[in-house]
Amino acid sequence: MRYISTRGTAPALDFADALLAGLADDGGLYVPEIWPTLAPADIAALDGLPFADAVARVMAPLAAPSIGEAALRDMARAAYARFAHPATAPLVQLDRHTWLLELFHGPTLAFKDFALQLLGHLFEHVLSRRRQRATIVGATSGDTGSAAIEAMAGRAGIDIFILHPQGRVSEVQRRQMTTVDAANVHNIAVECTFDDCQDIVKALFADRVLRDEVRLAAINSINWARIAAQAAYYAIAAASLGAPARAVSFFVPTGNFGNVYAGWAARRMGVQIDRFVAASNRNDILFRFFANGDMSLAPVVPSLSPSMDIQVSSNFERLLFELAGRDGAAVAAAMAAFRSDGTLPVTPAQLAEARTLFAGHRSDDEDTLATMARVHAATGMLVDPHTATAISAAAALAPSGSPRIVLATAHPAKFPDAVERATGVRPALPPHLADLFDRPERCATLPGDVGAIAAHIRSRAGRAVAA
Ligand SMILES: *Cc1c(COP(=O)(O)O)cnc(C)c1O
Repeated sequence: MRYISTRGTAPALDFADALLAGLADDGGLYVPEIWPTLAPADIAALDGLPFADAVARVMAPLAAPSIGEAALRDMARAAYARFAHPATAPLVQLDRHTWLLELFHGPTLAFKDFALQLLGHLFEHVLSRRRQRATIVGATSGDTGSAAIEAMAGRAGIDIFILHPQGRVSEVQRRQMTTVDAANVHNIAVECTFDDCQDIVKALFADRVLRDEVRLAAINSINWARIAAQAAYYAIAAASLGAPARAVSFFVPTGNFGNVYAGWAARRMGVQIDRFVAASNRNDILFRFFANGDMSLAPVVPSLSPSMDIQVSSNFERLLFELAGRDGAAVAAAMAAFRSDGTLPVTPAQLAEARTLFAGHRSDDEDTLATMARVHAATGMLVDPHTATAISAAAALAPSGSPRIVLATAHPAKFPDAVERATGVRPALPPHLADLFDRPERCATLPGDVGAIAAHIRSRAGRAVAA
C-alpha cells in the first residue's frame, strides 16, 4: 500500500516511510492511495481469532508490502501481552442496546496505548531493518506523553524526549512519565505553558540541522500507523456483535478526531457500521460542524475531560479529503482558509454527505457528572468523564435496532477527582500502578528556550546504546 498526502503534493510513501515521516512534507496527512477492502468472510473470521492476531489481520493490507502479516502478528502479540484484561478490549453490556468497548486496560490506562504500544514495536522493527536510529520528540499536556513513553521505553534504536509544562500536569500523569526506568526515556519539565511546549517542539522540527543530526520523528495523533492500529478494534468489536450480518453504531469521545476517523477507515474497508457519533465537551467545534456546518475556532475552555479540550481536530483533514473527492489542491486551499479566517469552508454537498454518517453530541461538565452518577446508580460501574460524554450521546439517541458501542477511552482511576465528585466513590489504581507514588522520578527541568532544549537533546540522544 502506498500513502498519499491529503494536500496532494508530497511524494507517496510506503507504510514504513509514512510511519517514520508522521506529517507529509506539504503539511498534509498521509492516507492510503487506494482503500483495501475486507470481504464479509474476512470480517466474520475476526471473531474467531485472538485479539492480537485479529489486529494483524486488519492491518495486513495497510502495511503490505513493507511489513508482512506474520511480523505484524508477532509485534501485536508482544504489544497486547502487556494489557491487563484477557480480552484486551472487552465489550461490557451497559443496557439492553448499549455496550462499552473498554479500551483502558493498557499500561497507561487510556485508549492511546492500543496504537502506541504497537508503534513502539513497529518503530523498532523498521529502524533495526534499516540500521538506523530515531529520536522521538513530543509535547504533552498529560495522557499522550505517558502512553508514548511506555511504548518506547527500552526499545532499541530509539530515544524519546517528552516535554511537559512544569507544574501543569496532574501528579498521576507526571509520575506515569517520570517513573519509567529506561535509559532511552528523557522527561523534560519545561518552565512554560503547554502551548509554549508545543511551539518549542515545532521549532525543533523546523531546525533541519538538528532534525537530520538526531533523526527526529513524531508519533502524534496524525501518524497514519496510529489510525491503522485503531481501525482494527472497530472491526473486531463490530465482528463480536454481529458484523457482517448486522451493522453497529459507534459513540466516540472526540478531540483530534483521530479515534473516530479510525472507525470511518474501518467502515471504508468494508466493516458494517451504520453511523458514528462524535461526542464533545464544551469545546464543541465538531458538534457545531455536524449540526450546521459551522467549523469555526473558539477559545479552548478547560473541562472535566481534558483530553478533549481541543479546538483544531487535526485528523478531520483526512475526512475532508474524502468529502472533497480526494482533491488535494482543494484540501490545501480549505486548510489555508481555516488558518487565515478561523473557519473551514465546506460546501453544502460535503456537509450533507458527512451528515449521512456522522452526528455530533455535546456534554457540558454538568451533563458529564450527571451521566457518571446515572451509570453508577444503574449499574454500579464507574466510568471516566471522557467516556461519560459518549454515554450521554448514546442515551440521547433513540435505539435504531443496531447495537450501540460506546468507546470507553480512559480508566476511571485516571480521573479520580471527577469520578468521586459524581459518584462519591474514589476509584483505585489497578495493581500494576498501585505503587506509583513510591517509585523514584527521573526528570530534567529546563527553561522554555529552544536552544537549551536542543542542546539537551543533542547531548543525550543515542547514548543509551554504545555506538
Ligand atoms: C486522546 C483522548 C481522547 C480524544 O481522542 P482523539 O483521537 O484525539 O479524538 C478521548 N479520550 C481520552 C481519554 C483520550 O486520552
